[in-house]
Amino acid sequence: MDRMKVYIVGVGPGDWQLLTLKAERLIRTADVVVYDRLVSRKVISIINKSAEKIYVGKKPNLHTVTQDRINEILIEKAKENKMVVRLKGGDPFVFGRGGEEIYGLVENNIPFEVVPGITSSISVPAYAGIPVTYREESASFHVFTGHFKEGDPADKLDFETLAKLEGTLIFLMGMKHLREITSGLIESGKDAKTPVAVIERGTMPSQAQLVGTLDTISDKVKMAGFKPPAITIVGDVVKHHEKLSWFTNRPLYGTSVMVTRARTQASRLSARLEDLGANVIEVPTIFIDDFELGEGDIYKLNNISEYNWLIFTSANGFEFFFKKLRDYKIDIRSLAGLKIAAIGKATARRIEEAGVNVDFIPSNYNSDIMVDELTLRLAKGEKLLYIKGELAKETLCNRLSENGFHCESLTTYRTVSEKLEENVFDNDVDVITFTSASTVDYFYNALSDDRKQSYFEVPCICIGPKTREAAEKKGFKNITMSEEATIDSVIKTLIDNFGGKNEN
Ligand code: SAH
Repeated sequence: MDRMKVYIVGVGPGDWQLLTLKAERLIRTADVVVYDRLVSRKVISIINKSAEKIYVGKKPNLHTVTQDRINEILIEKAKENKMVVRLKGGDPFVFGRGGEEIYGLVENNIPFEVVPGITSSISVPAYAGIPVTYREESASFHVFTGHFKEGDPADKLDFETLAKLEGTLIFLMGMKHLREITSGLIESGKDAKTPVAVIERGTMPSQAQLVGTLDTISDKVKMAGFKPPAITIVGDVVKHHEKLSWFTNRPLYGTSVMVTRARTQASRLSARLEDLGANVIEVPTIFIDDFELGEGDIYKLNNISEYNWLIFTSANGFEFFFKKLRDYKIDIRSLAGLKIAAIGKATARRIEEAGVNVDFIPSNYNSDIMVDELTLRLAKGEKLLYIKGELAKETLCNRLSENGFHCESLTTYRTVSEKLEENVFDNDVDVITFTSASTVDYFYNALSDDRKQSYFEVPCICIGPKTREAAEKKGFKNITMSEEATIDSVIKTLIDNFGGKNEN
């Protein structure tokens, strides 16, 4: 089938729900997606798993991929008979260089379509409560680039003309030259008291805004340390933000909520929290599955009685280790005489529940301390087998080996994730929600060992006593339970305890 086509697609200013239906469909069905910095993570997450993703991000002053190269990539990929979707922030034809990319396609006879997007120049003011036109106040709006070449007078904005315009002036890419823009307008006769707003990361959960006048705004912006992407709006319409502001007034604005979901749950809670203004970080569905053993691993199991110690770092490791013994028909009596080390109280508890006494639990999970304490218990020449999950590091075993002990590892399980958003755990989180005991388990399993301790400190909201119990058992320290075991009540608890960040 002939799939050769390139779609130049606008994805809007940031809030992924401002995607058009057509953009969404194309993103989900593309063979190749080419995108850059202003495209939100959420948009990236809906790209078809089998699609090739090509990042051509540009950072200010640091052009990672040149425009020529981007044009070439689009042509090359299309010629491989692929459906290529080129994502662009806002609208592709508003300072988006969409036109240039299309010329390259036309020259190569490659079919294309343009999918307009919601441009930041209008939508970002709207999210700050600023209508770009207003009856009898502003009958036009004018969009400029605030980016010009240093020391090139020909490339400067014509402030004389700009200052005469009656309508709203909107500057994109204007952070670097904000002072030149405001003073240029004042010097050309624009009233120094004209209201100005600067909005950073508009429509995103972290949207921030500053309001002042032509003569005050650049100091304010400097003080606040605003960075791109940000837009500047000059005109009387800015005043409306006092009464019409809505986005940052929502009850959970400014709160980062990690939503953990079990395998079968829909993202209903996430959508409601987003509507309330929260920055929702969804932890994808995680479950634990068998890890297929290689020949070397099977050998280790068959010769298990040669080891002196088994080290378990999680209840899962323990459970899947026993499953492996059953799978390979290895008699449990071959473990007689082996000593057991359990890293973590929960792991130890699970092992003891199965009727096996634990010989060693470290007093701390720092790997240096663990190794020090364990080596005190080891006799010379003892052999250890470290039972782990696929993602666990070998650090512990390596340290023991460095200290002269014979340590080998055996991976018994792996963490399978339904849809893992990249770097999901790199976000700052104010609160975690648990809506069932299994979400606690999924979340706990998704955390690497070195992350667990810091997440245990993050406040969490549990839907009912069972969920709370599960969270306590795993080690979470700062738990609030919703009054009722309903999603509504979880949301109310969130608002009561974490809402109202913007009220002052
Ligand atoms: N094609 C885009 C504009 C690209 S130029 C559009 O139609 O919106 C990049 C500039 O757009 C940024 O420097 C900034 O001025 C503005 N911009 C884009 N997204 C923004 C956002 N979410 N908040 C504030 N400004 C934004």
